[in-house]
Amino acid sequence: MYPLTHIYFARKVMGFLDDALLLGSIFPDMVTLCDIPWEESHRLGLILWPHFKKAAPPLVHFTQGIITHGIEPRGLDYYSDEQYGSYEKGYCFEKAKPLIEQVVEALRIPPENGWWKAHNFIEMGIELHIYERFPELQGKLFQAFQQQSLIDLLVSSLSPILVERNRPLNHCFSVFKQYIEKEEMDATLLAIRYERQINHRHNIESIDIAHCRDLIVKGQRLIETELEDFFEDVKIKIKPILEQMQ
Ligand SMILES: [Zn+2]
Repeated sequence: MYPLTHIYFARKVMGFLDDALLLGSIFPDMVTLCDIPWEESHRLGLILWPHFKKAAPPLVHFTQGIITHGIEPRGLDYYSDEQYGSYEKGYCFEKAKPLIEQVVEALRIPPENGWWKAHNFIEMGIELHIYERFPELQGKLFQAFQQQSLIDLLVSSLSPILVERNRPLNHCFSVFKQYIEKEEMDATLLAIRYERQINHRHNIESIDIAHCRDLIVKGQRLIETELEDFFEDVKIKIKPILEQMQ
């Protein structure tokens, strides 16, 4: 899922939102910029909790944010990407099925990559939907990255646990900060950002932006009436795990 979605979900699960919870809720994706592989970064809750469960509130909230995001313990990304209910894979993959062929066309990719890429259009549709309902979350995201003393505390507390990497931990905070947009979000902006992302990761030079924009809106239409039920259900699954970990 995309950042505002994770922030929204962390707030929904925990019933509050402070800067530490917010940063934790996006940290598993942010830290992949620091040479920590996705599989590891999405299991960080398990590693960090024993260190931080009795620590100062910012570190507790930060770790709780990570747990709402990850795949182990099972957080939002587990149910959206890996497995949800009786679906073949996660929620976003299931909802993406009607978009596969058009995504292959818009991105000019081989059909075998279609389903994987199509699920991003559901994720972007969800991100747009969350932004339209809760535009204040974008300001909160921007604001959290201005809290340098909190970021310094997180970096100094996490670095000894997340052992030496090629890039120091503060690198991923500063790189991620550059990606945060202050302009209003819409489907075109998401499509342009997506082009940058897949250009960087997959060496695809250009995509059909107008077509992608329409597919993001279609993705939004596919989820908008039932998305909150999905979030509610995942919250019910995660809440007891967080409570047991207290
Ligand atoms: Zn993630």
